[in-house]
Amino acid sequence: MKTIFSIIYILLILLLLLCALSSKKSNKKISKQVRRFNLSLVIPILGNLIILCSKNEITALIGNFIYFLGMNVVMIALILFTVEYCKDARSKHKVPKILFILLTIDNVQLLLSFIFHHAYEVKPALSGKVHYYELIPKFGLYYHRFVDYMIFFMVLLIFIIMIIRMPSVYKEKYVVILVAILISGIWQSFDVFTGIYIDSSMMGFTLLGLLVYYFSLIYQPVALLNKTLKNIVSQMQDSLFFFDPRGYCIWLNEQGSKLLGVSQESASEASASLYFMFKNYRIIPENENVEQIIKTEDKTFYYTLTRNSIKDKKGRSMGTYLRIIDNTEEKNRIKRDLYDSTHDSLTGLYTKEYLFTRIKEVFSNSQDKTYYIGYIDINNFKLVNEIFGTDFGDYALQRVAEELIRTVPPHCLYGRLIGDTFGLCFPNDELDLPTFESNLKNFTVNDGTAERRLVVHMGLYETSSNENDITLMFDRAHFALTEIKDNYKQHVAFYDKNMREKVLLNQEMSAALPRAIANNDLRPYLQPIADSKGNIIGAEALARWFHPEKGFLSPAAFIPLFENNGMIADVDRHIWRSACKILSDWKDTHPELFISVNISPKDFYFINVFDEIDMIVKEYGIEPAKLRIEITESVMMTNIDEKLDVLKKFHEAGYIVELDDFGSGYSSFNLLKDMPVDLLKIDMSFIRNSSDNLKAKTIVKNIIQLSADLGITSLTEGVETEAQFKALVDMGCILFQGYYFSKPVSIDEFEEFL
Ligand code: C2E
Ligand code: CA
Ligand code: CA
Repeated sequence: MKTIFSIIYILLILLLLLCALSSKKSNKKISKQVRRFNLSLVIPILGNLIILCSKNEITALIGNFIYFLGMNVVMIALILFTVEYCKDARSKHKVPKILFILLTIDNVQLLLSFIFHHAYEVKPALSGKVHYYELIPKFGLYYHRFVDYMIFFMVLLIFIIMIIRMPSVYKEKYVVILVAILISGIWQSFDVFTGIYIDSSMMGFTLLGLLVYYFSLIYQPVALLNKTLKNIVSQMQDSLFFFDPRGYCIWLNEQGSKLLGVSQESASEASASLYFMFKNYRIIPENENVEQIIKTEDKTFYYTLTRNSIKDKKGRSMGTYLRIIDNTEEKNRIKRDLYDSTHDSLTGLYTKEYLFTRIKEVFSNSQDKTYYIGYIDINNFKLVNEIFGTDFGDYALQRVAEELIRTVPPHCLYGRLIGDTFGLCFPNDELDLPTFESNLKNFTVNDGTAERRLVVHMGLYETSSNENDITLMFDRAHFALTEIKDNYKQHVAFYDKNMREKVLLNQEMSAALPRAIANNDLRPYLQPIADSKGNIIGAEALARWFHPEKGFLSPAAFIPLFENNGMIADVDRHIWRSACKILSDWKDTHPELFISVNISPKDFYFINVFDEIDMIVKEYGIEPAKLRIEITESVMMTNIDEKLDVLKKFHEAGYIVELDDFGSGYSSFNLLKDMPVDLLKIDMSFIRNSSDNLKAKTIVKNIIQLSADLGITSLTEGVETEAQFKALVDMGCILFQGYYFSKPVSIDEFEEFL
């Protein structure tokens, strides 16, 4: 038995020395601690060997001393190793100095035991037939055991804390060492406390030394790395498949398993599933990205496949791996982004920019083909929004879009231009005018609460694919539309040559306006206004333009044009100023006369009407009541409150406000009740009809009566005959204007007429 264990001890020592030697090759920081630990283990084994081979008490005592000393060295090496093994890259934990002091004290007292015999003694004993020296522990040895166990438990504690704190992949390397330490500890304690004469626990310690060597220097770089990589690969977004050299799938990651519906355990089935999904996956060239599109009934998937082979040092294939990236979401996002940037969010139609781009594309791919460009507009859409609310407005726009999708010609491109306007482009042979007309004519919107009719117009411009100014084409289609904007019977209009000339003329006139004002080519004519006795009590100022080239121009030739482009304010301001100048000239000659001036509804968009007029009136020092203000009821169609404020201001400043063209448009009597007007100008269309139409006559009579009831002066326009005059006087009308008295005339003529 003694011989066997002597040999075992020698073998253990050799093994440990071998480990210590080989750990020298490692350049890891911990290799020093590993080497020290392995070497430290040699000392107690050597102690045991001496004890075992002792022939007298002295050598047995020396053997025991070496053993105790050795255990102290083992403990210090173990805790130094533990601290290094368990610390993270940044922490600087150190072994407390007190441990070194306690161990030094122990070493000294163990040595002194040779003199004082206070720690241990030996005595010869017999186990079976074997003679050996039995250890007799004294109190000094308890101190030794206390210090060693304290360090031992500290080491255990450090490992336990590490195991708790570490993520599962890393736990293994701590658990193995902890278990080995525990086993060695228990084994050793068993040997010590049962008093067996051979210390077999040295084998446990050697095993611990080997494990420490393995897990510190060998295990980590290979096994942990493998496991970590596998973990990363498993969590990757891409699907990965590994194949052996024969092409059988031997491993797939979680994503791959999801993609194929094959479990990770049954990797061998993956090859068949892959072949089913991606027929050519085996033959795709190495290191190249191959795109694959897979269509199912309701979805399209986009994949990128790459195949790489793994070769050993000699260049022999060890297998291949296939990586499949699912680009479906990315592709869909790009598509969505593209859709968002090219489609209007409210209606889903193309945006103006994208519609233009598409038209350009179509034109560049077709030569000498004729197309129609369409411009669609909802009449008075601003009013629709204001009266029915923007929610209804939005709904109406969506309905128009739906209607377009439903009814446009087969090869039509269409989109929303801006606001309530839509654009179209289609081959001219696809034009179906009657259908367009009837669709636009019967355009109603039902939002669930009520059905409302919208007046929708379309302008068409015929063009060829050789032309390239898309904006100009739409401008022309738009222009055609403006020609029928107030027409409730015709809904489609074509741009023609006359229109082009008209556009040119408009541009010319606009350019000429500033000079016309400066030269007084544009000036007011005066039309007398009479009372019931036929006496002239005032006049209306009506603009006339004596163009140097075109000659005389009536308001109809330029007022609508300037109302459209905003220059109307320049015209009106000039007429107001001229009227004020006349009134100021009349101060002495005709102080009783007034002049009425027209105010366009559009003036309110561009200028501060009250401030401008009041400024001129003050400038010429005129009594405000002498300059009468004519507004039409269409002014009240938008921003009513704001307009009422303006009218109130005029009133408060002493102006007389007249409601012009009453009865020509919507004639809201309700509005009349709230509007601060002093005079009602009954439109001449009534007079024209009233001579032979009893109904019209009755209406005029009632309007005159109503004005009287409301305390408003009535004035009838367009009085052309004596009979009309007499009849109106009988009806109670107060003031009169018309050719019966005089046409609008120049100032000189007017003064002569007086
Ligand atoms: P309005 O304000 O209703 O002016 C009355 C128009 O009726 C004038 O036409 C006048 O010449 C015409 N008229 C007067 N008596 C008779 C008659 O007995 N029979 C017929 N058939 N017609 C008669 P005019 O001067 O051509 O003006 C047309 C419109 O142009 C005016 O209608 C007014 O709305 C607008 N307008 C004229 N001057 C100005 C102006 O300085 N500024 C603005 N904003 N608009 C103006
Ligand atoms: Ca007028
Ligand atoms: Ca009028």
